[in-house]
Amino acid sequence: MPAKITHFETHDVRFPTSLTGDGTDAMNRDCDYSSAYVSIYTDSDLVGHGMTFTIGRGNDIVCMAIKAVASRLIGKDTEDLFADMGKTWDWLLADPQLRWIGPEKGVIHIATGAVNNAIWDMFARKREKPLWKLVADMSPEELVRSTTFRYITDVITPEEALKMLKAIESEKEEREQKVREIGYPAYVTSAGWLAYPDDKIARLTKEALAHGFNHFKIKVGADQADDLRRGKLIRSLIDDPSLLPAGTPRRDVNSADLKGKNAGPTGSVLMIDANQVWDVQQAIDYVKGLEAIKPWFIEEPTAPDDILGHAAIRRALKPYGIGVATGEHAHNRMVFKQLLQADAIDVCQIDSCRLAGVTEVLSVLLMAKKFGVPVCPHAGGVGLCEYVIHLSLIDYICISGSMERNVLEYAEHLHEHFVHPVSINDKGRYNVPTDPHGGYSIEMRKASIAEYEWPKGSYWVGAKGK
Ligand SMILES: [Mg+2]
Repeated sequence: MPAKITHFETHDVRFPTSLTGDGTDAMNRDCDYSSAYVSIYTDSDLVGHGMTFTIGRGNDIVCMAIKAVASRLIGKDTEDLFADMGKTWDWLLADPQLRWIGPEKGVIHIATGAVNNAIWDMFARKREKPLWKLVADMSPEELVRSTTFRYITDVITPEEALKMLKAIESEKEEREQKVREIGYPAYVTSAGWLAYPDDKIARLTKEALAHGFNHFKIKVGADQADDLRRGKLIRSLIDDPSLLPAGTPRRDVNSADLKGKNAGPTGSVLMIDANQVWDVQQAIDYVKGLEAIKPWFIEEPTAPDDILGHAAIRRALKPYGIGVATGEHAHNRMVFKQLLQADAIDVCQIDSCRLAGVTEVLSVLLMAKKFGVPVCPHAGGVGLCEYVIHLSLIDYICISGSMERNVLEYAEHLHEHFVHPVSINDKGRYNVPTDPHGGYSIEMRKASIAEYEWPKGSYWVGAKGK
C-alpha cells in the first residue's frame, strides 16, 4: 500500500535539567535539555518521528525551521522517498530560499536533521526493522546511494566508498551476531558535569564502575586547579582495583582497544571535555597542566569551526600523549572532511542531529573509515543516546568493521521519555535495539510531550515550572 505524506506536527519540548546541574560544562550553564520534535503522518497508519537537540531558549526557532523544511514533504509518496535516500536528501537541501539561511549550517541545518531523521524512522518502521538493521541489510550499492558525496569527492568518491564497503561485506553477519551478544562499548559522562559537588561525582563514578564502565569523561575549563583536583578524585576511584565489580577480567593496557588511551592500572580511561572555551594557545597551555590526570583526549578545546586551530593543538599535545577529539558542533560533512585532511583529530565525534540526519552522517562515517579515525558519537543530551546506538552499529557492521577502540557516549538521564529507550548491559555496553517497530528509537511518550511542552505543558504551567 503506497502512503502519501499528509501532515506533520512539531513540539517544543523542554526538560528542566538546569535545576540539577545536569549537562553543565565550561561553556553551557543552566541548560534545559530540549527537543525540537517532529512527527510526520501519512494517509496510512505509517508515521515517522524525528528531533534535534537544543539546550532551551531558541528551541521554538528550530521548530519554526522544521515547519519550513517539512512542509515541502506534504503530498510526497513515501516509497519514492525511500527508493533513493541520497536523492531525497539532496532534494530536501535544495530549496533555494531556505538554502540562503544556511547553507548547510545553523538552525536550518539542524531542522533539516530532524526531518531527515523522521524520514529514516518512517522508512525503518515501514520495513519493520530497527533503523540500524535497515541500513545493515542494505547492499553496499544501496548504502552508497543513501548518502551524499556533494562537496567531498576530493577525499572520497562513491566508487571508492563502494570498494571499502565491499571489502568487509562478507563478515557483516558475523559482526552483527557478535555485537548483539556483547553490546557496543560505552563511556560515561554523567559523573563529571561541572556543577556537580564532589560527593555526587564520587558516588556516580563508583556506580558507573560497578556497572562495568571503564571509560569516563569529565568537563573541564572553568578552573585549572579545580579540574586537576576533580580529575585526581575520579582517577583515584577508577584506578582502584577494589572498586571493580567482582570477576572483572584483568584489562591489558597495551591491548588494541586500550593502547594509546593513557589507561590506568585497572584499564580505566579518562577523557576531558572543554566545550570550546579556549583560544588555541590557551588550550595548549591549560591541557599541558592536566597531564597528571592522564587524559586520552581533550574534547572541543576551541571553536568548532577552527580546523587549523585543532590541528595546532593536536601537534602541541602529542608529546604529552594527549589526543584531540571534536565534532559535536561540526555543522556539516565539509568541516569533518577538513578536520580529517588537516590531521586535526584522533577521535571523530559525529552528532546525530547537528548533521542533517542519517544521510549526512553516513558520509562522515565513510570519510572517517578512509582516514582510519575512530568514530565515537556525541550523545550528551536528550534523545541522543537513543539515536546514536543505531549509528555506531551501522559504523561497526557495515563501514569501519571495528568497535573495540570506539566508545559511545552514555548520559544517564531522560531516557524514560522515550517509547524505545536505550539500555546498558552489566558490562557497561549498549544493548542492541531489537524492536522491529522501534524505527530510530526516537518516538517520545505522548505523556512526556504533554507534560514538558513549552510553554503550555503541565509541568511549565504548574507550580514546579515557576
Ligand atoms: Mg562534548
